Amino acid sequence: MEKLVISVGVTGSRITREQTPYIPITAAEIAQSGIEAWRAGASVLHIHVRDPKTGLGTQNYEIFKEVVDRIRGETDAILCLTTSGIPGRNLEFRERLVPLTFQPELVSFDAGSVNMRENVFLNPPEFLELLAKETLAKGIKPELEVFEAGMVDTCARYLEKGLLKPPLHFQFVLGVLGGMSATAKSLLHLSEIIPTGSTWSVIGIGTGQLPMAMIAVTMGGHVRVGLEDNIYYSKGVLAKTNAELVERIIRIAKEFGREIATPSESRKILGLK
Ligand code: ZN
Repeated sequence: MEKLVISVGVTGSRITREQTPYIPITAAEIAQSGIEAWRAGASVLHIHVRDPKTGLGTQNYEIFKEVVDRIRGETDAILCLTTSGIPGRNLEFRERLVPLTFQPELVSFDAGSVNMRENVFLNPPEFLELLAKETLAKGIKPELEVFEAGMVDTCARYLEKGLLKPPLHFQFVLGVLGGMSATAKSLLHLSEIIPTGSTWSVIGIGTGQLPMAMIAVTMGGHVRVGLEDNIYYSKGVLAKTNAELVERIIRIAKEFGREIATPSESRKILGLK
């Protein structure tokens, strides 16, 4: 099996301080939490930033710059910046593309729209085509976030049209209300229908995080952990840092005999330059 690529969803855009006092909010906190997760053994940092006034996600250039500069100054981590926008607010497409300015190695590419609780997470064809073209032009690899099986077909169609370049890298997002549930069957099905030669990783939301990560470790896939997706370490016990979630999956993977990829090894596995 290939070495394990560990990604971390450092903060996301929607978890609040009321839900957990440990969620990083300021640029300094987000950067620090990402750096600690990298030190613990993660190689990909998936980054959203927050508006210090509302505490929620923003696509603000200056705040992104502060976080990106700090992480680049102190780590060799692969940056995967978000293009998802803000929950409940449908931003201008151009605003969602702001993180591409920083020339990260990966950006998220949510391969379709999803009903998420009270909101519709809108990713219409015009946006996906624009994002695909911009990433191609800039040489940035899209991380294809898939919430249900039809989104794999969407990506395969874009591959055929030349809007996506092989090898594709999928991030299955399982356990979101409105998407596929976090079960072994969901993961098995998705891993079998992606185009040959693609790589994949999985995000299990909430209580799905640990089981999905463990199954991916044994199947030869890759994993994402972190506070964006799950704020608990165990039942009723909040996770205090992203690093402790990374440390746990490393312990488990090592017990299985699965080695952990460094950032440079992860670059080769994911086909990054
Ligand atoms: Zn995200």
